[in-house]
Formats: sequence, structure tokens, C-alpha cells
Amino acid sequence: MARAPVYLDCHATTPLDPRVLEAMLPYFTEHFGNPASSTHAWGWKAQAAVEQARREVASIIGAAPRDIYFTSGATESNNLAIAGAVRAMSGRTRVVVSAIEHKSVLEPASRLGREGFEVVRLPVGRDGIVDLEAAARAIDGQTALVSVMAANNEIGVIQPIAEIGRMARDAGALFHVDAAQAVGKIPLDVEAMCVDLLSMTAHKLYGPKGCGAIYVRRRLPVEPMLVGGGHERGLRAGTLNVPGIVGFGRACAIAAAEMAEECRRVATLRDALLDGLRSNLGTVVVNGTLERRLANNLHVSFPDVDGESLLIAIGDIAVSAGSACGSASGEPSHVLQAISGDEPVPSASVRFGLGRFTTADEIAWTVERFTTVVRHLRQKAHA
Ligand SMILES: *Cc1c(COP(=O)(O)O)cnc(C)c1O
Repeated sequence: MARAPVYLDCHATTPLDPRVLEAMLPYFTEHFGNPASSTHAWGWKAQAAVEQARREVASIIGAAPRDIYFTSGATESNNLAIAGAVRAMSGRTRVVVSAIEHKSVLEPASRLGREGFEVVRLPVGRDGIVDLEAAARAIDGQTALVSVMAANNEIGVIQPIAEIGRMARDAGALFHVDAAQAVGKIPLDVEAMCVDLLSMTAHKLYGPKGCGAIYVRRRLPVEPMLVGGGHERGLRAGTLNVPGIVGFGRACAIAAAEMAEECRRVATLRDALLDGLRSNLGTVVVNGTLERRLANNLHVSFPDVDGESLLIAIGDIAVSAGSACGSASGEPSHVLQAISGDEPVPSASVRFGLGRFTTADEIAWTVERFTTVVRHLRQKAHA
């Protein structure tokens, strides 16, 4: 039986796959060249590695390699997509986002709101899925951009991206997808889903932190945030993070090859976790629909239990209350608020993020620990 600590916080970040590390290592030392150095072998070697990675990253979303631009991660890509694409598109005045987007989408959208754009936040149902009727009403000839995430980072719910992409396309609006949690976990295709801009990040799929990419549909104008040496065809200046990019490419290639098999394995563990908690503890509420959800996500609430006491008592298992970014503020997460509607947000909510290296032993141990702690806290609440 596994012993603490157990890492079940893979929506916050994932460990580096050893195969990814192995691919990266030579690019720190032997092949340290700058891909912008076009006159010698060190530069050529680095450039060839970057272009290989660009093909691997493009392939996992069905894009052409030249439509991929490397960035520092999904936060930067989201900012570029929201601010850069909307500013480059004159005339239209509305921006439509879902209420459960990551803060790195909501904040740049709010900033556009302060600059005079009308920002519409689409509601979600209790299942966590964007209200498609509200979307159809909001997306019109005045809409510059629609941004809806492929999969949510808290409750793991998968959005009807292709349907929303079609609505945006029909209205002549741009469609941006934050796919940070979805890349390598579910199939994505920028053509079939009518996606114009898509954000990715390496560290959510067993790659390194500080490296990501944005897909930009061919010839779509995007105003850069960083200007300088004209790297990445002028969209994002700055010397490329070659080891990070190599790792990102390798991570995408591994995920593409192993996605189906890994999803089955992880979903079995996730289902065992829920079954174990339910059979030991009775009422365990799943937040958002289970049917349309990432295989590695479980988000539950334990009624009658104090959330803070639960997380303190469970300290040897790395999980998250609400979102990784929201938990520090102590406020209930905007995602849980959005799916709760008029009902109070449940206090003791836990996000389990399983991953490639999670074992059946770790899940059994987690069930045992939660059973002990929740039973104890329930007794205290009723004493
Ligand atoms: C992690 C995450 C981000 C931010 O990505 P970084 O690369 O860490 O900046 C954005 N959106 C979603 C949905 C995420 O899960």
C-alpha cells in the first residue's frame, strides 16, 4: 500500500516525464546554440530542434507547423489571443467569454471592458457546460471574439467547442480556445472545431514549466505584446527557450501516441476513487457532469464537513480546494459559484487531478485517508 505523500494535483502542474527530460538535456549543454544564429552549426542545430518541436506541437491539434508560435505558457498565449487579436480587429465592439474561464482569459477580457468593449460572460448550467442558447444570443455581428476553454481546470468539464466555433464562424467572429488542460487529454482539431486561436502550455502535459504556444490561423492579424528582434515571425520577440520547446514537442508526441490508452487507465483509477469514497462515505456530491469530463479529473463536495479542516487534516495528499490560483485568496472559486447558481457554494470541495504516474495503490490510500478524515469531521460536526 502506498504511503503519503501522494500527488493528485495534476491540473495545477504535472511532473516532467523522464523521456521529456532526456530529450531536453542535450539542449542545455552540447546544443546550446541560439536558433536565430543563422550563420553557424550551433544555430542550425537549435533551429532544427525548434522546427521539429513545432511539427510535434502542431500535429496534436491538427494545425500546420507554421501556424504555431512559441510563448512562455498559456497565460501569455491567452493574453495575446484576447488583447492582441481583438485590438488588431477594428470595428467590432463585443467580446464573449464563458463565466468559468481561467483568470488569464477573464482578466484581459475585463481590461478590454475598461477600454470600452462590451464583455459578455456566458453562464454555465449545473453540469458546468456553457449555455448554448445564451451563446447563440450573445454571438452576433458586433462580436469581435469568442473565448471558451476546451476543458475546465477545476471541474474538468469538456465544452462543446465545435458547436460554439460554428456559431462564431457564422457570425464572422474570431474563436479562441484555452486548451491548457485539454491538449494531450482529448482529441482536438482546429479545423473541425472552427478554432482561430488556441492556447497551450507544456507543464500540464508532462513537459517543462515556462513554455507554451499559441496557434494562430493563417494570416490572422495579432498585435504582439513583446516587440524586439522579430522572433516567431514578429508575433513574439525574445530568444527561444530551446530546451523547453524541445521538451514541449516531445511531451506532445508522447501524449499523441499514448492518449487513448492513458485515458482508459486513468479513468479506471478515477472511477475507483469515486466508488471508494461513495461506498465508504455515502453522500459525495460530484460537481459538474461526470459524462463530459477529463478522464483525470474528479471534483467532489462532502456535505456537513468544514472545508478548511478537511484540507488541513488531509495535508499528506496533494489535492486542491477549488482552483490552484483561487485557493490562496480564501474566496469560493468563480467556477463553483457559476455552477451553483442561486444555491450556496459547497464548503468542503476537493479537486483530484490524477495523472500518468498515479498508481492504484495511491488511489486506495487516498480513499482510506479521506474516509478516516471525513468520518471524523462529520462526527465532530454532529457532536
Ligand atoms: C494552467 C492553466 C493556464 C495557465 O497556464 P500557464 O502556462 O501556467 O501560464 C491557463 N488556462 C488553463 C485552463 C490552465 O489550466
